[in-house]
Amino acid sequence: MDQDRELGDLREQVRVVTADIIRDVQKRMELARQIGEIKNRKGIEVKDERVEQDIRKMVLAISSQTGMKPDFALRLLNILLEESESVQAQGRQPPQKQTHLGIFMKAKQLEASGKEMIHLEVGEPDYPPPSAVGNSLSESFRLRRYHYTETRGIAKLREAIAKKENVTEDRLIVTPGGRFAVFSAIVSLLEPGNELIVLDPAWPAYKECADFAGARTRVLKTRFEDSWTPDLGMLEDMINPATKMIVLNYPNNPTGKILENKSVEKIVSLAKDNDLYVLSDEVYAAYSYGKQFQSVLEFDYEKTIMVSSFSKRYAMTGFRVGYGVADPRVIQQLNKIQAAGITSVAEPMQYAALAAIGEDHRDNVKIMKERLDYVCKRLKEMSIRFVSPDGALYVFPELPDIDDLELVDKLLERGVAVAPGSGFGDSYKNYIRISACQPLEILAKALDKTSVVLEEHA
Ligand code: PLP
Repeated sequence: MDQDRELGDLREQVRVVTADIIRDVQKRMELARQIGEIKNRKGIEVKDERVEQDIRKMVLAISSQTGMKPDFALRLLNILLEESESVQAQGRQPPQKQTHLGIFMKAKQLEASGKEMIHLEVGEPDYPPPSAVGNSLSESFRLRRYHYTETRGIAKLREAIAKKENVTEDRLIVTPGGRFAVFSAIVSLLEPGNELIVLDPAWPAYKECADFAGARTRVLKTRFEDSWTPDLGMLEDMINPATKMIVLNYPNNPTGKILENKSVEKIVSLAKDNDLYVLSDEVYAAYSYGKQFQSVLEFDYEKTIMVSSFSKRYAMTGFRVGYGVADPRVIQQLNKIQAAGITSVAEPMQYAALAAIGEDHRDNVKIMKERLDYVCKRLKEMSIRFVSPDGALYVFPELPDIDDLELVDKLLERGVAVAPGSGFGDSYKNYIRISACQPLEILAKALDKTSVVLEEHA
């Protein structure tokens, strides 16, 4: 009876404490709203890293005084910070931002209304996939290879990928494009309030996936002046008990950077020391020009998820075949999401990927290098600064005295679509990304128009 009374008493106390927490959270939201109004009047940005960092330190100190697990304390804080930001952003004009996909849609609309367009806004090679891929497609129909498959992918394709990547088959999953491997890795490994670190400028999907997971994206900005090399001291400072993942993407979209092996090694070692996942998006691995690209898999760190794809290497973007390589336990998680969401990648597409895997892609790399060299030469002639790409399909030049969206709009009027820098991170509105996925004569036409627009602006 005594124990029953004690239990009842404790439960009553939990009710009271819970009610207090909810009231306090509401008080915090009201304060955040008032701060938001002042920020709005003063024209200040909602997010303030310095203030956040200060609160983070305080919360960590309290967690150590009280014995609360620090990662739990920081996850709670992150949920509060996310909510405060959304309260503060209410009623504000959302920042003018367009991603490369937004521009692609605009360009498509213009095309539908009869305007001719040159597409330099997406990373979609114009050359065809290997001819073996075409043969495989018609064969698939003849052989009735159009059924559901094992969620992880057909055995033959998994075998071929495992051989190529030098891993065992239980460490990989075939996904609908590299994009889905990125999505399922982020969504399955991060919980609300966890943090992931993204190196800006970055492909926007990482942040979008983190939003789905309710995780908080911490951004490490890289700079043109440092040739897009991240400051690893700053990276180390950003890691805290709520951090769960670092995302790498080399060869990089949008800058074309390939990071030196010793820097990658340092990042992997930081991840090891802090028990973090490294999500390495290597969909551009085939395209390196001079500087040798080495996969993060070489570092043999258990918590690595490597993402690759057939899209760029073999010009098979619409086939939607990619894959993830990770520890078998992580692969099981990705498999669960894939089983729930899509059953499997389309069987004919998996056979098409299998047909591609042995094909020589070196001509594609040669073509792309020639085009990138051409774009770089033309930019130099226009006195526009850029860091020469080590790999991938893009150049990310700095704009002279014109902001990205203004230039993008002016170029759209003239029938050229390029991607605005601000779509790859908040600090890059004086950059654009030029994709070299068009033949030289088309690139020449587009760059002639760019030169005219910039001259008119000057
Ligand atoms: N990762 C990066 C950095 C990309 O730029 C892209 C596509 O542009 C992808 C992944 C997705 O590629 P996939 O077609 O394999 O989904």
